[in-house]
Amino acid sequence: MLDKVDALEAFRAEARAWLEDNVPTSLRGDPDKVLDAFMSGEKPTGDFDLWRRRMGEKGWGAPTWPKAYGGGGLSAAEARVLAQEMADMGVANPIVGMGTSMFGPTLLEYGTEDQKQRHIPAIVRGELRWCQGYSEPGAGSDLASLQTKLEDAGDHWVVNGQKIWTSGAQWADWCFCLVRTDTSKKHEGISFVLINMRQPGVETRPIRLIAGNSPFCETFFTGARVEKNDMVGPWNGGWTVGKRLLQHERSGQGGGRVMGGGARLPDLFETYWGDADGQDDVRTRMVANMVEAKAHALTMQRAVNDARGNLNPSATTSIMKNSGTRIGQEKAELTLEMMGAQGLGWDGDDFTADERAAVRNWLSGKATTIYGGSFEIQNNIISKRILGLPDPTKSA
Ligand SMILES: Cc1cc2nc3c(=O)[nH]c(=O)nc-3n(C[C@H](O)[C@H](O)[C@H](O)COP(=O)(O)OP(=O)(O)OC[C@H]3O[C@@H](n4cnc5c(N)ncnc54)[C@H](O)[C@@H]3O)c2cc1C
Repeated sequence: MLDKVDALEAFRAEARAWLEDNVPTSLRGDPDKVLDAFMSGEKPTGDFDLWRRRMGEKGWGAPTWPKAYGGGGLSAAEARVLAQEMADMGVANPIVGMGTSMFGPTLLEYGTEDQKQRHIPAIVRGELRWCQGYSEPGAGSDLASLQTKLEDAGDHWVVNGQKIWTSGAQWADWCFCLVRTDTSKKHEGISFVLINMRQPGVETRPIRLIAGNSPFCETFFTGARVEKNDMVGPWNGGWTVGKRLLQHERSGQGGGRVMGGGARLPDLFETYWGDADGQDDVRTRMVANMVEAKAHALTMQRAVNDARGNLNPSATTSIMKNSGTRIGQEKAELTLEMMGAQGLGWDGDDFTADERAAVRNWLSGKATTIYGGSFEIQNNIISKRILGLPDPTKSA
């Protein structure tokens, strides 16, 4: 036991020294600097690019993935130590996005050796961006109604159809996509393919979000090419792979920015209301939100500790998603409430940058209970898979 503790402390010293040598000074002290650089969709430049390349070469951007594919090969305990040291330094992992959070873990579980060799190293190095082609105009919560069609064209396949709400499609190099390969069946007629987005036959049209930016798109495939070695899982066997990926997606949505971001509530209270008497209702809700956020974060931590690495999320990710997103939305509401009229600003010098950001954060936070499967759909999963309640849509 002592050996294990010693080994972990030795790793902590190694990680701290490496971070000290390699994290550019300009990126320390505020993890949002790295995350904002990624979310902007701009090609990495300057210190962000330097940090991305150093972390990519080290493999610590995907710390628990196998070294054979460029990953860090760390144990779950070492990965936690690394995360703690990065949090202490105030720097975020630059190897972010759907490649590491959703697609990579799914490919490691279901991909062929050839697929892992071709796709995982570039994800670990943060060189390529991936997007998710699931939703369609007629297939959201009822995802298995999707109609985008994959057909044989001899030495390759072609894909035709429309996806919607495709986050980051305008910046993506590749798309992991659910397509219809048999129209006579529903779930058993779906396959999971990888589509190169940089080819004729792929068009993306950005859609403006209520918060003012355009982080997602309508995506049109018109005779786009799919290589025959880029189907993950068997022909008509994509539903199982696709559902697994959704669990990875949800496991990443219970914490971090969806928990509200922004300033601490007591600091806001002091800034806007000073030591004003009264406001007991807001004080009570503020404390309740902070207690819930702390309990949620500890539960997430325990779930991570209990899991072996990050490869086996389960239906309980639905609980964490609903809990984390609700707490985040409540925090955003409380933030605006404390700001009062200053929490209604969109543009102009009458509002501080933090006030304008709070409004956008409140609006964009509305999406957290929609994407990755809506709040109601998570409740359906919890009732069926975890509580074992009968499905009311099926007759007895
Ligand atoms: C910001 C954002 C980013 C997104 N990014 C992506 C992406 O990258 N890739 C991608 O493929 N998709 C993405 N989506 C789409 C997202 O997954 C869907 O919006 C979501 O699954 C809901 O589908 P829908 O919008 O078609 O709503 P609908 O399915 O039409 O649902 C409408 C309402 O009915 C409720 N409802 C539907 N069915 C049931 C039921 N059986 N029981 C109870 N209530 C029900 C829903 O909860 C919802 O409130 C994104 C969405 C947003 C908002």
